[in-house]
Amino acid sequence: MGIDRITTAYYRLPLEPSGDAGHGLLDLEELVTVAIHADGLVGHGYAYTIGRGGRAIRALVEHDLQPLLVRQSAEDVEGLWRRMWRGLLYVGRGGLAAFAIAAVDIALWDLRGLREERPLWAVAGGTARSIPAYGSGVDLPKPLDGLLRQVEGFLERGYRAVKVKIGKPDPSEDVARVEAVRRLVGDGVDLMVDANMAWTVDEALARGRGLVPFNPFWLEEPTVPEDVEGHARLARELPMPIAIGESLHAQAEFERYVAARAAGIVQIDPVTNGGITPSLRVLRLADAAGLPTSSHYTDELSAHLLCTSKNPIYLEKHAFALDAYLERPQVVTDGTVRPTDEPGTGMRFDTAALRPYQGE
Ligand SMILES: [Mg+2]
Repeated sequence: MGIDRITTAYYRLPLEPSGDAGHGLLDLEELVTVAIHADGLVGHGYAYTIGRGGRAIRALVEHDLQPLLVRQSAEDVEGLWRRMWRGLLYVGRGGLAAFAIAAVDIALWDLRGLREERPLWAVAGGTARSIPAYGSGVDLPKPLDGLLRQVEGFLERGYRAVKVKIGKPDPSEDVARVEAVRRLVGDGVDLMVDANMAWTVDEALARGRGLVPFNPFWLEEPTVPEDVEGHARLARELPMPIAIGESLHAQAEFERYVAARAAGIVQIDPVTNGGITPSLRVLRLADAAGLPTSSHYTDELSAHLLCTSKNPIYLEKHAFALDAYLERPQVVTDGTVRPTDEPGTGMRFDTAALRPYQGE
């Protein structure tokens, strides 16, 4: 018994053309789905990319992770995560390997929930609750009127917090956009800004100071993730909290940020962080440091995982919603989301909706 086999699929999902200051123009999301067959059950997981790397992730799962897992017991999820991490150590410790391990780890957590007939939030040790969500755009190329229409749409859907991209080449354009969004939403709505690692530390200091009059709720990814000390300086010298996490691919990276007091808000993404297993450890790390938590994309999984956190302030409702490809899209009620109550992740892809986008 134990793990019998792993099957994968690869999809190329078109995006409405969008973009940010760090990754440029985006018009394609890759989706790699993983199904683990074990003990008569099938656990489902996935990884995504923003246009490149998906085929390599799929190849790592099929050629390198599957042989490490077949005939192993599926029950020791943390042990299997260690086995995968050690197995890819020489080419891993982050990067694409983290995404491949994540896709498998998510499927193993789904299997754990199916086996125990409990939802993910319960098997992960959480308490189900509603978590405030914010509307999040990937909107740097949008002209100002398009940006404002998008933010109006977020408010109409009930969100009481919104995020916009910043990092235009001309700083005054960022100021004008953030000022216009603040004027539109008023003072009662939290407004986050996200630079997607575009700046040097000195640029981030100057740009961050220029946005202070508009009271940003947080400044996300102001500079490159390798520069922990730079983030610590920004955290000390800017009044708004620094939010990081989507570009950290190992638990050790989060540990460095927390130890250096380089982050004010910890954002998990169980795909880019290397799986549910490390994301849960990161949430414990944030709890121990007294830091509030949030999420990046992965809306459906993060609704479960944030229920294990002491202070989950916001879940990101991301512009690249997978709703069109899910059997049961996440429900937003009065700007909040709750985790699903069915066994496992509750997340099932609609293979008929995905089929036109299947790639090799
Ligand atoms: Mg971001």
